[in-house]
Amino acid sequence: MPVYFAPGRVNLIGEHTDYNGGFVFPCALDFGTRLTIVPNSERILRFRSTNMPQTVELPAMGPFSPLPDHCWVNYPLGCIAQLVEQVELPSGYDLMYEGNVPLGAGLSSSASIEVVTAYAFNDILNLGLDRTQLALVAQKAEHTFAGVHCGIMDQFVSAQGKPDNAIFLNCDTLQFDYVPLRLENVSIVLTNSHSPHKLDAGTYNQRVSECQEAVRQISRCKPIGRLADLTPSEFQSLQSAITDPVILRRARHVVTEIQRTREAVNALKSNDLTTFGQLMNQSHISLRDDYEVTGRELDTLAQTAWQIDGVIGSRMTGGGFGGCTVSLVKNEAIDTFRQTVSEVYQRETGLQAEFYIARTGDGARRIE
Ligand code: ADP
Ligand code: MG
Repeated sequence: MPVYFAPGRVNLIGEHTDYNGGFVFPCALDFGTRLTIVPNSERILRFRSTNMPQTVELPAMGPFSPLPDHCWVNYPLGCIAQLVEQVELPSGYDLMYEGNVPLGAGLSSSASIEVVTAYAFNDILNLGLDRTQLALVAQKAEHTFAGVHCGIMDQFVSAQGKPDNAIFLNCDTLQFDYVPLRLENVSIVLTNSHSPHKLDAGTYNQRVSECQEAVRQISRCKPIGRLADLTPSEFQSLQSAITDPVILRRARHVVTEIQRTREAVNALKSNDLTTFGQLMNQSHISLRDDYEVTGRELDTLAQTAWQIDGVIGSRMTGGGFGGCTVSLVKNEAIDTFRQTVSEVYQRETGLQAEFYIARTGDGARRIE
């Protein structure tokens, strides 16, 4: 019985830029979702997960449509629904999922369960789709079955990740470069806020529409297709076309974040981690003040980290509100970092932070 794996990811910089056609800079993690597939003679698809209580059984001949109540099966089912448009499934399958990415923590367990499914069925059915096509299938599953109008970042890095490298991805053209993470005596530390506030689909989709509204208003002066079409100086001269102050702040975050992402990648390529870290901090401030997706928990984590010697940079990562921060921390400062951040966070919010040292990993693959 074949076993497949696809990773979660951490985005180092370039947040909420993907659905605006901008740049992102994520890396795949060494944790993710495993999928064991066993054919059955009952002609049913039986979905199970060690992370979820519900088992779902569906006739393998389809047709497939989204399940109610935010059922977890929508993520894999949305992928299978697309892949069987051309070919019929030769049998039923028992699908057993097992994830070790914390769910809903901004490390993209959703992309890992989608991509592992798309990768596995592409392999079993010999469909011949490449990794970028599989990422697009997974993204569409999230749009049409899970109802989140996400960009391509999460699925792309889960499909294309490479150990010790981050991916500098142009989300408009899908051209990408692997950039080696030469961090030497520095670690990528993830801090899980365990915040009860989640970025729900409604708030996420609202930010997507606010960016579309900014494009509409700017297009009255200069026709553009997406916010990534504007350089920061063009944005300066055109911003008065945006009449609503909230829409203006949303657009300013996106335009400046795309620029920060370019600069951060250049800094990393020239081994200038100090600049990289400062850009991470500025990214957090922009997400806090202009995009308004941080909240008290993530602000407390990042702002506490900024005060600690040996912290090179720290910012929220993922969609926002709950979830994790990502910090670059000198190895000799990690103990102090954990201790100080834990104490301050618990005092300020009553919550317990959890820490992981991130290790980068490979993209989707068959493991057995
Ligand atoms: P994130 O992608 O940041 O982890 P999301 O809210 O986008 O958060 O996705 C989390 C959802 O994905 C879960 O609530 C669940 O529905 C689904 N999911 C992810 N991994 C698994 C898994 N291993 N088993 C079952 N469902 C999963
Ligand atoms: Mg997700």
